[in-house]
Parts: sequence; structure tokens; C-alpha cells
Amino acid sequence: MKQTLNWQIASIREVKPETAKVKSFTLTLPDWMRHRAGQHYDIRLTAEDGYQAQRSYSIASEPEREGEVDITIERINDGEVSTYMHDVLVPGDRLEARGPIGGYFVWEATMTEPLLLIAGGSGIVPLMSMLRHRAAAGAMTATRLLYSSRNFEDVIYYNELEKLRAENNGLQIFHTLTRSQPVGWEGYARRIDQNMLKEVAGPMDSSVQVFICGPTLLVEAAANTLVKIGIKADQIRTERFGPTGG
Ligand SMILES: Cc1cc2nc3c(=O)[nH]c(=O)nc-3n(C[C@H](O)[C@H](O)[C@H](O)COP(=O)(O)OP(=O)(O)OC[C@H]3O[C@@H](n4cnc5c(N)ncnc54)[C@H](O)[C@@H]3O)c2cc1C
Repeated sequence: MKQTLNWQIASIREVKPETAKVKSFTLTLPDWMRHRAGQHYDIRLTAEDGYQAQRSYSIASEPEREGEVDITIERINDGEVSTYMHDVLVPGDRLEARGPIGGYFVWEATMTEPLLLIAGGSGIVPLMSMLRHRAAAGAMTATRLLYSSRNFEDVIYYNELEKLRAENNGLQIFHTLTRSQPVGWEGYARRIDQNMLKEVAGPMDSSVQVFICGPTLLVEAAANTLVKIGIKADQIRTERFGPTGG
């Protein structure tokens, strides 16, 4: 079997601003290998003096795209790697990448159970890979996304999500904005709580498969609440991105 975990030199083909704090990077990979939606790459940066820093970044793109992957990174103000990625790297630059990694937080379009996706902030990234995969594979899987952001301007992939929703093929999207809401906002306007989860998940089939990703506190609160309202723990997969995101 092919060795997947060697470091390779990826080239940055494109850098795309998503929001004021978030950019997507398209990485061209000489040793590209088809990933499963939900997996991540490890990125390693090496300074001139040999100092190395390594972080994980979820794959944002669909597995159907060959030869490259997108990763989407939120700039953490005092962060080592995310600031370097945002402030220094430009198309044509190279970095070390290793992946795809992860076998638990993954979804394949061949899975037919209804899907409930819950994201906080940049936790949308692996879930976006799942939604892009779902669209590319032409899957009609009943899917609901509940996506929590601070402000409307912080919602990542908003336009693309609206487009996917408009295709009217079984995808429902619920946004919640926890800090401020634009005039006329009709979505939720508070942190994810039991009533919200009941409304979003309530009428779903009991075989629902749940994927939750984001800051640790959000992930734990959402998972515990779902168990309280009757979803079995073994139907819930979680991925934690950072300390609190707070
Ligand atoms: C499997 C996996 C997938 C991930 N995928 C993504 C992704 O798709 N996009 C993405 O932006 N990040 C993702 N992350 C988080 C990422 O790996 C880094 O932790 C993040 O970019 C911060 O790294 P840094 O070097 O900039 O900050 P660091 O120098 O490591 O930390 C600086 C400060 O920020 C705090 N901090 C670290 N991470 C976060 C965070 N996520 N939120 C808030 N505060 C934080 C630290 O506690 C510290 O105080 C993922 C993490 C994991 C484990």
C-alpha cells in the first residue's frame, strides 16, 4: 500500500480571502492522494535557523478535485503558524505538508443516513469538504447544517452555502450569529442551546449521523445536549480545533 504519511513539498497556487480573519490556500501536491471529506493535513514550517512549527488544517475542498487541496485558516492574533500563513505566504511559496490524515471524522457520499452538521467558526472547514463532496457526487442525503458565527461578516463560505442551499436537493442551513446580527436577520441570534438543537435536529430520522466541529467548548456543549435530547453518542463524531476560540 502506498505510504501516505511522508512529508511533501506543496506549492501555494492561490490565496483567497474569505472573511477579514480567514483565508483559503490552494496547495498543489506533487504526491496528491484522494482524501475522505473530514480529513486534514499537517503543515510544517521551518525557519532559517531550523526552528520548526507544525499544525493541523482540515481539508476544505472536495475529494473529487485532483492534484490539489484547499485549506482554510483563521488568523489567531498571537498565533505562530496562522499569522505566518496569513501575513507572509503568497502564491508560488512552498511549504511542507503531510496527509491526508484521519479516519474517524469522515463522511462519504455513499453513506445514506441523514446528516446533521454542526460548526462553530472555522469548524465549518471539514464540514464544507463534506458538503462539497455531497454536491460533487450528486448525493441527495437529507442534510442539515447548523453554523454558529460571531457576526455576519465572520460567516465563512456564506455565498457558496447559499448556492448549495438553492440547489434544493435536501440541504437545509441554519445560521446563528452570537454577537451581532444585521438588520432584518431571520436566523438564530444566540449560542447553540437545547431548544435550538431540538428545533434543528428534532424531526430528523433516528439514524441521523452527526458531525460537530469547532472550539472545544462548543463541540462539547453541542454533543452533550444532543445526547440529552435522545441522539445516541455513537452517532456523534466530534473534532476540536482549539482551546476555546473565545
Ligand atoms: C484536526 C485539526 C484540524 C484543524 N483544522 C483547522 C482549520 O481547518 N482551520 C483553522 O483555522 N484551524 C484549524 N485547526 C487549528 C490549527 O491546527 C491551529 O491550532 C490554529 O491555526 C492556531 O495555530 P497558531 O500556530 O496560529 O497558534 P498557536 O501559536 O498554536 O497558539 C496561539 C494562541 O492561540 C490559542 N489558540 C490556538 N488555536 C486556537 C484556535 N483554534 N482558536 C482560538 N485560539 C487558539 C492558543 O491557546 C494560544 O494562546 C485544526 C486543529 C486540529 C487539531
